[in-house]
Amino acid sequence: MRLTTIIATLLLTLPLTAFSQNPDVFELLNTKITDKDSLVTYFRNRTGISLPGFDPTGSDITPEEQKWADDALKHIFFVHSGYQPSYFYGDDINWQYWPVKDNELRWQLHRMKWWVPLGKAYRQTGDEKYAKEWTEEFVDWIRKNPLGDYKEEDAKDLMTADNMYFAWRPLEVSDRLEMQIKQFILFLPSEYFTGDFLSEFLINYHRQCRHIMAHFSKQGNHLLFQAQRLLSASIFFPEFKDASVWRAKAIEILNTQIAKQVYPDGMQYELDPHYHLESINIFFNALRICDANGLRAAFPQSYIATVHKMIEVVYNYSYPDYANPMFSDFHGQHEMIPLYEEWAKVFPDDGMITWQATKGKEGKTPDYLSREFPVSGIYCLRNGWTSEATVMIMKAGPKGEWHCQPDNGTFEYWRKGRNFFPDSGGYVYSGDEEVNKQRAWFRQTSVHNTLTLDYRNLDTTQSHCLSWTSDSSFTIVSVLNPSYEGLTHKRTVTFAKDGSVLIVDTASGTAEGKVAVHYNLLECDPIEDYENHTLRTKFKDGNNISLCVMSPSKLTMLRKEGKVSFSYKHYNPRPAYSFSLLKRNGETVTFVTLIKPSSE
Ligand code: MG
Repeated sequence: MRLTTIIATLLLTLPLTAFSQNPDVFELLNTKITDKDSLVTYFRNRTGISLPGFDPTGSDITPEEQKWADDALKHIFFVHSGYQPSYFYGDDINWQYWPVKDNELRWQLHRMKWWVPLGKAYRQTGDEKYAKEWTEEFVDWIRKNPLGDYKEEDAKDLMTADNMYFAWRPLEVSDRLEMQIKQFILFLPSEYFTGDFLSEFLINYHRQCRHIMAHFSKQGNHLLFQAQRLLSASIFFPEFKDASVWRAKAIEILNTQIAKQVYPDGMQYELDPHYHLESINIFFNALRICDANGLRAAFPQSYIATVHKMIEVVYNYSYPDYANPMFSDFHGQHEMIPLYEEWAKVFPDDGMITWQATKGKEGKTPDYLSREFPVSGIYCLRNGWTSEATVMIMKAGPKGEWHCQPDNGTFEYWRKGRNFFPDSGGYVYSGDEEVNKQRAWFRQTSVHNTLTLDYRNLDTTQSHCLSWTSDSSFTIVSVLNPSYEGLTHKRTVTFAKDGSVLIVDTASGTAEGKVAVHYNLLECDPIEDYENHTLRTKFKDGNNISLCVMSPSKLTMLRKEGKVSFSYKHYNPRPAYSFSLLKRNGETVTFVTLIKPSSE
């Protein structure tokens, strides 16, 4: 044995004993094997367990991932795309380093996003330095992030919370369960993957599964993630004595939650396109790993039908360039074609999934254009499915969960490849006062294309559909939201075949004050006509729109601060406008907005 290997082995084993809550790995496993080195051999030769969609050779490593791997050798860790360049975490790694008080930066450190890239770099180069680094960091993490008596209620103030509430938040733990399977596969051939290391890996892995079992989130996408990843864990490591209990629990949660978290029209109840897609991925991945390992019967036909409905929502609210609307906690577009390719395998009879997967070469578009999802309040108005189409997506649904913004009545309008009214986006999650203030700006009702009273955020976000009619010439949808105490907002949108849109807003009730409709344009330098309350874009390619707001009351047009965030912690300034009037007690005020496409 080489000296470095001996030293590494000593480093790996000696300091760990005190932190291993269950030091004998064999107590956790159903196995006749009794020594650790033979256990490594067993796993290296094991067959019959499949992790679908994962390339064990690491040949899919991207230049970015290679950089993360090489940076990791210097303890520069890729934690979050919103914080670049990545930070240095110390020669002696400081797992509590928190350079910007954004909770995500502290939480996501414990997902170790650079560990799978280290594994891919190892497989692609065969260079043991990557495996050495991974095993050292892995053990260092275990040593410095012990799991004690974890109580979620103790984490109410994260600015003063114990490290445990970051390192052992169940969402982070579940992420590790999924990623550590991949790391296990990638590094298993390494000389650093010793029997002692394997023992620590499995003990830690088991501890993480137990932690999830004891600390499932109560609801929402976190609970789904935890269940799906625990399912993967139980299928990939059936050797654990507890694996069948974990699997049964995970399947039970997924089957129960798919009925609870998905509205009958197919939208996940957080009403956030990003988390809707994540939820599809969760349900779909669970189905896929079960399929690949002979467990398809875990999920009834109704589960599969619900996943299909969820995908239908996605292709209805997607633009022809595959972009999703940027409502709620939007932090970037997803690569959609690989998802459609996978979905097409399970849903070959849905022509639109195939059409999307093949960029229109195969399959077919739906036999309708516009479509309503009235329970979720998603209204998809379109005059076609190709890049020449005009598409308007309006959001006016029930109260959503944490990720949903108070934006009832807002919309995006996409025409021939240009999103003229992109949502302001999410920008950032939560953290200290400064971070929370930044988040609040992007959540404001007034930075959405809807109606406010005194520029305030909506008191109530509970829209319902009054009517929907759609024929070959027009689609007309009318929604109502009891937006504020004393003010009800009714919005009626008429979408014409040529992509013109007429919006009629009325605000009625006892409330008095300044009522405004807001329109937030994409980054551009529009022609502004304050006298006639008109805007006109002037793109040289001839793909333009004009917007005009009219009212029987005296209107004031103002330019406001506008921002649009296409990715986490980045935003661009953009032109935004309010058109306001004074409303008296009992008065019903009306705004009429015309959006007209133009080729000038
Ligand atoms: Mg928004």
